[in-house]
Amino acid sequence: MCGVFGICGRLDAPGAGRSLSAAWLAYLGLFALQHRGQESAGIAVSAWNPPARAVGENEGERIRNRFARFRDVTVGGGILLRKEMGLVAEVFDRETLDQLPGSAAIGHVRYSTTGSSRRENAQPLLGITSYGPVAVAHNGNFVNASSLRRRLLSQGATFQTTTDTELVLALVSQSAAERLPEAVAQALQAVRGAYALVVLGEEASGQPVLIGCRDPHGLRPLVLGSRDDAYVLASETTALAAVGAAPVTELEPGQAAIITPAGVRIEDWFPPRRRAFCVFEYIYLARPDAELEGQSVHGVRQAIGRQLALEAPVAADVVIPAPDSGTSAALGYAQGSGIPFDLGLVKNRYVGRTFIQPDQADRELGVRIKLNPVSAVLAGKRVVVVDDSIVRGTTSRKTVALLREAGAREVHLVIASPPYRYPCFYGVDTTDEEKLIARKHSVEEIKELVGADSLHFLSLSGLIKAVRGVAAEEEKPEDAGLCTACFSGCYPTELTDEVRPAKDELERG
Ligand code: SF4
Repeated sequence: MCGVFGICGRLDAPGAGRSLSAAWLAYLGLFALQHRGQESAGIAVSAWNPPARAVGENEGERIRNRFARFRDVTVGGGILLRKEMGLVAEVFDRETLDQLPGSAAIGHVRYSTTGSSRRENAQPLLGITSYGPVAVAHNGNFVNASSLRRRLLSQGATFQTTTDTELVLALVSQSAAERLPEAVAQALQAVRGAYALVVLGEEASGQPVLIGCRDPHGLRPLVLGSRDDAYVLASETTALAAVGAAPVTELEPGQAAIITPAGVRIEDWFPPRRRAFCVFEYIYLARPDAELEGQSVHGVRQAIGRQLALEAPVAADVVIPAPDSGTSAALGYAQGSGIPFDLGLVKNRYVGRTFIQPDQADRELGVRIKLNPVSAVLAGKRVVVVDDSIVRGTTSRKTVALLREAGAREVHLVIASPPYRYPCFYGVDTTDEEKLIARKHSVEEIKELVGADSLHFLSLSGLIKAVRGVAAEEEKPEDAGLCTACFSGCYPTELTDEVRPAKDELERG
């Protein structure tokens, strides 16, 4: 899972108030998307609109000279890129942001799902193509990355990274289209899988062009907003709010937005296929204050909790959330069951990224430092703890142990999603099915493994009912316009590569 952001327009328009550069706005937008990826962060800006150049100095030299003192800023034609491992606040400082000029930018926060966690794989990626410099940032996964990369290598392409995203740059370079937007559309005809992409380039005039597009299934979200005379693209509405932009529309599956300083146009690039928006965005990935498909994520999570109270009634004294992602569903469970809601676990907000890096050893170490029980709420009580999901089981086991240590008499674990049994190939780091606890164990066995007195999962039909507001008994999950593959095994795309997509697939050659 990753977060993407893009902005392009006249940021100094009359009435725009104190004008912030595109880089500053991208920085604020990425802050609001930090929950979607904590491994690396990056911003690419179009340095168009330069002051008069010195006689004899070409554009590349001029920009290089201007930024010579920034060792960590990459210059590619008229696009400048700063990316590094770390959180947004660690990667950018005021001086760097103040020196990144221009009124168009894209940004990215990464949680690696294809390609290991290292600087070269951090995004945006920047390449020089026949359309000039092009930067690209991607949320999602291409499921045919291996075969596509082999084909491009055999045709002489070279790659600097082991991400699937770089395929877009290689395919754009091969395009014979006249302009960059058409070249990106052509490139995306070759890829299969999940993508919400933002691409930054330059038109022949040198003006910036920002392109945003969603895959034909609409697996990953991408919303368009506006702020004064600028347009903004972001993975979530939370990032629009962070930069003072108003939502305009969500891009539909297969749609693209092409934004220049002159305005925006929406194009249908691909006929929509079976709509399959990732239901896990509602369960866990998105922030609760975001809106997806026109509905409040917090509201949907509360509905999930109320549905759970119907499906899994438990005799208990208190309902507590597993912080923070279980909070809305726990509220809903308390509303539905009439059992009082309270805070039985408190999260340490100051745990650094060391403990949220995506590897198992770090997860094991992290739980105790991340969570602290509130004994006054728990001692002697029969406790329902509501969590969003159980993927590997590590966190649940530690959480139940913490609650017992704090004096809970009974611990009932209620999960706001069905058992996570199948790997995700669309941008969530669960491609290794061996690590999925529900793949190998029954609900009863998981209950024993995590040490709970009882364990309840939401049904798939109950999940769809909570998200869509309609009874799902009569409809197949694939008709609900949602991807539910990690729960149902029903994948919306073909998995055509002979090797199932895996995080390190492009590192294996
Ligand atoms: S498999 Fe699960 S996590 Fe992946 S896109 Fe589908 S619903 Fe989302």
